[in-house]
Amino acid sequence: MNKQKFYGFLRKQILLMIGLSFIPGLAYIGLGWMNNIIIPALILYTLVILVSVWGWMIYKDYEFDEMGKDDLENWYRKLSYFFYIIFGLWTLAFILYSEEVANKFHYIAIFTQIGISVVASTLLFSDRKLFLPVLLILILPLTVYALSIGELYGDILSIFSLIFLGVLIYASDNSYNLIQKNYYQSQHDALTGLYNSRHFIDYLDYVIKKIQSSKKHVYLLLIDLDHFKTINDSLGHEIGDKVLKEVAKRIRDYCNDTHTIARLGGDEFAIISDKFYDGQNCQESAYVFSEELLGILKETYVIDRHHLYISASIGVNTIGSSFTQARQFIKEADIAMYQAKSKGRDGIILFNDELAKEVEYLLKVERKLYFALEHNEIQLCYQPQLNREQKIIGCEVLVRWNSPELGHVSPFEFVTISEKTGLIIELGNYIIEEAFKTLQSWDRKGLDLKQFSVNISVRQFFHSTFLDEVKRLSDKYLNEDTRGKIIFEVTETILIEDIYRISLVINKLKRLGFSFSMDDFGTGYSSLSSLREMPIDELKIDRSFVSYLGERKSDELMITTILSMAKIYDLKTVAEGIETEEQFKFLFDKGCDIFQGYYFSKPLSKNNFELFYKESFTQLL
Ligand code: C2E
Ligand code: CA
Ligand code: CA
Repeated sequence: MNKQKFYGFLRKQILLMIGLSFIPGLAYIGLGWMNNIIIPALILYTLVILVSVWGWMIYKDYEFDEMGKDDLENWYRKLSYFFYIIFGLWTLAFILYSEEVANKFHYIAIFTQIGISVVASTLLFSDRKLFLPVLLILILPLTVYALSIGELYGDILSIFSLIFLGVLIYASDNSYNLIQKNYYQSQHDALTGLYNSRHFIDYLDYVIKKIQSSKKHVYLLLIDLDHFKTINDSLGHEIGDKVLKEVAKRIRDYCNDTHTIARLGGDEFAIISDKFYDGQNCQESAYVFSEELLGILKETYVIDRHHLYISASIGVNTIGSSFTQARQFIKEADIAMYQAKSKGRDGIILFNDELAKEVEYLLKVERKLYFALEHNEIQLCYQPQLNREQKIIGCEVLVRWNSPELGHVSPFEFVTISEKTGLIIELGNYIIEEAFKTLQSWDRKGLDLKQFSVNISVRQFFHSTFLDEVKRLSDKYLNEDTRGKIIFEVTETILIEDIYRISLVINKLKRLGFSFSMDDFGTGYSSLSSLREMPIDELKIDRSFVSYLGERKSDELMITTILSMAKIYDLKTVAEGIETEEQFKFLFDKGCDIFQGYYFSKPLSKNNFELFYKESFTQLL
């Protein structure tokens, strides 16, 4: 049990004990008065009152959050004395009244002593150190008393009293073990034995309160294993669990008692340091500590004969006297951790003011984005795609957001944010609907396009409503002919899911006539085997390869490889981000099918695209 709950629980028992002592105490006075033994009864009752007042003071003195370790220990010592003394008084009462055989008071005394022993074992079971001596104080006098009778029934009674003592100790002990076990389970993670997130957050809140009053500093580490999902997926959960256990062990072995460690869930761990007097020192220590820990976590894992190499991304946050809540503190460390991930993983990032500003901006974008859709601030534009004869044969639909407060926000930014918040579903559906409408109107106006590409984000692709929504909108705006022109661009990031699930979605839509393109190809997860298994129709060479053409030999080689690979798998190829004639020539010579980029045209509004289309047509004529 944690100290706070433990002390709090015992503290409550003070009041109960005071109450229980007053009432039977009065009965003793009454009986004493009737039988002329009022003096000892009054003395006893006065003592009970004095000890109760003292107990009340101990009760009032307790302020867990304000008290230091020594204060708490002192307080606990006083509390223990209180219980010894008050139960001792009961024994005193027993000794006094057990002599009063003539009035048959000894029956009352014996019964009360047995009763109070039961009370003691119920009130104090949470503290083994306390209930054992108290039970001895209460029952041993009974045993001695029975023995002193000097008759057989007395001897038997004394043996019974010892058995009774044993039973009470056994019962208290059982309850004690049970609450300890329950308590342990409610605070710990079953797999690793580290603290769980619930306890961790409570504890962190407590630490934050403490350091605010003491002007000290602590650091917090959030550790997330890199690509742990791959281990789970490829080697199975059993191995995954063993890895997590080993990681927990390494962290525990590395941290000494000065740190508190928890597993927050999945492959995420958290560590809180001990307190530092100086903020600078705290930050430096955090960094040194993280670096060493990262090194330890990266050592090879040998699990069931598998040799595994695992890195981690660590987000660090420090806190001084400023007011923060545990959740906010963790969130900031989380942001730093994600930053470490996005910087290529296997690294450490400290949360700082710059990150805080960035986060604030992102939050602002997120808030405004909710209204952007309602207020018609989201528009689509269309970037022409040309074939080898440099004739417009299609376009890519690109989303634009012109916010009155924020100005033009890059789609990279708000698409990523809406992916995180889930708004992408609404936004994505809106984009699909507007895009379909445009294609329908162009078809009616006689613009002869061969293809029409729409970007689909990962979360949108896997959302349960994606298929139905596409079907519904295509029934509303498209016919068989125009449906055949739509190409959905997905990025390689969809490969975080298994190929089977991806193919299921793609194939269902292909049966309706839609096609698929692999966007940003060459930057992410794709491997040759996944390319072979994916039922796609087109490859889009990522802009980053195109823009370095002529500068980096490796990129030329990459493009050549991608183009020849596409030939093998019979896939159409599109190059995007073409800005110069040289880039175009190179791609043309290597056999690329379709071209897109500022060299031909920037993304255009609907009207401008129509003009551009007509102009290029008249030029060709
Ligand atoms: P993307 O799918 O790779 O889109 C191509 C990006 O390259 C577009 O940026 C386009 O404007 C830009 N671009 C095209 N030609 C050139 C060029 O010659 N030079 C340069 N420097 N850039 C060129 P944009 O419109 O800013 O979009 C950025 C990203 O945002 C897109 O990358 C895509 O991932 C996402 N996005 C844009 N529209 C949508 C959408 O409707 N839905 C989804 N899910 N994502 C979208
Ligand atoms: Ca795209
Ligand atoms: Ca792209």
